[in-house]
Amino acid sequence: MHDACGVVGISLRENGNNVAKSIYYALYALQHRGQEAAGISVYDGKTIRTHRGMGLVSEVFNDAQIALLRGVVGIGHVRYPTTGRSCIENSQPLLVKYKDGAVAVAHNGNLVNSNQLREQLEQSGDIFHTTSDTEVIAHILVRELLRHDLPDAVRALMRKIVGSYSLVFILGDIVLAVRDPLGIKPLCIGEVESGMMVASESVAIDTLNGRLLRDVRPGEMVIIRNGELFSHQLSRLPCAAHCVFEYIYFARPDSIMDGRLIYDVRVNIGAKLADEHPANADTVTPIPDSGITLAVGYHQRSGINYRECLMKNRYIGRTFIMPDQNMRETAVRLKMNTIRPNIQGQRLILVDDSIVRGTTSRRIVNMVKNAGAKEVHVRIGSPPIMAPCYLGIDMPSREELIAAYKTISGVQTVLEADSLGYVSHKGLVEAIGIPERNLCMGCLTGIYPLDIPGEKCAAAQMTLAEYVC
Ligand code: AMP
Repeated sequence: MHDACGVVGISLRENGNNVAKSIYYALYALQHRGQEAAGISVYDGKTIRTHRGMGLVSEVFNDAQIALLRGVVGIGHVRYPTTGRSCIENSQPLLVKYKDGAVAVAHNGNLVNSNQLREQLEQSGDIFHTTSDTEVIAHILVRELLRHDLPDAVRALMRKIVGSYSLVFILGDIVLAVRDPLGIKPLCIGEVESGMMVASESVAIDTLNGRLLRDVRPGEMVIIRNGELFSHQLSRLPCAAHCVFEYIYFARPDSIMDGRLIYDVRVNIGAKLADEHPANADTVTPIPDSGITLAVGYHQRSGINYRECLMKNRYIGRTFIMPDQNMRETAVRLKMNTIRPNIQGQRLILVDDSIVRGTTSRRIVNMVKNAGAKEVHVRIGSPPIMAPCYLGIDMPSREELIAAYKTISGVQTVLEADSLGYVSHKGLVEAIGIPERNLCMGCLTGIYPLDIPGEKCAAAQMTLAEYVC
């Protein structure tokens, strides 16, 4: 199961207001990271109370439920639609009770050894209530807490779990946050009016009128107690493998991630595309919303007129039912409409962030051609996606990735585009401004920053257990 999610943890000083409303707003800002389910846990001084549900943050919570979550320490989670089991049990935060208390946990990322760990734990008597790897994490932490103090328990956990993880826990009266030794998924620290917070993206901090302090470092454990922050560096190497897809597609453009404003990165990518794949055209236009910032960059660099030609309806609920082909076609038109006068007779440069299966770009090339475009030149802000992601982005299997089995000109033929250009690996890395050795480009290269059974691993990697001091 792949979980590409959003997490938040906030600890306010004792005299602070209830934390639940702040977590609710922070989750609202992180909604793009997961629309399947949402949840909040708050510690009231004695117990941890949780409310979770399927759907958007606004669907899961109302004022009455938030009012029941009283306390100054809390965490929250939004979960991405997945190909795995979509059920309330797998939503988060997850609560595990044990001899000395209870732990609530929310996780963004994906473990690659969770099946083995689960089997070992089941052999020794643990009983699991969910199919998610987050429960495995919680069980291991609880076992280690019974034997060690907190930093040593987290060290022991980090020696066992392999994969990507940005974790937030409630443990007694503290918020504990941990980022995996390669910093694959994002996590940042912010100061809010009467306390401190961690969140997947800085937009959650902005929403609470807070101040972004910095990113949680790869392999760092952060403890927030009574609104104050304490840091422990638990991995020994200054090494990173930040997920490249966060920069290309996943994160919000107004987020600052590992020191880069995502908006700037995407404008840079658009400019690289203009340098690498120029076209004789009249108009640059984005596939909304993910192509917008890239198209701005292409337009600024090429000087070609920018004009919106497609409008997305942002109010289509997840539960929109399409029982037959006729209705499915209506649904497509409901979701995206053309602005015909902007398209007719035009040679268009159509910009999007990525091609996964190829269905979106094929459909949209077809739509703009039907609306009268003379030529359609497709430009893509990532190199071809040719391998699955095991580390937290929900991607289809290799067989479903169009670039895994077709050449670029083969993809162009499927799209029925007049030309097709993907940004190069080098162009992408330069646009992000982080050295390639510190990025995870597994979905673009098929080479991963850690050992994944059956896949290639970047040369001479230490095992993650060896990273932990
Ligand atoms: P496809 O139709 O399968 O080629 O999907 C490509 C479109 O899906 C692009 O417009 C992207 O913006 C979007 N996209 C890319 N990756 C993902 C993902 N992991 N989850 C959801 N949408 C995605």
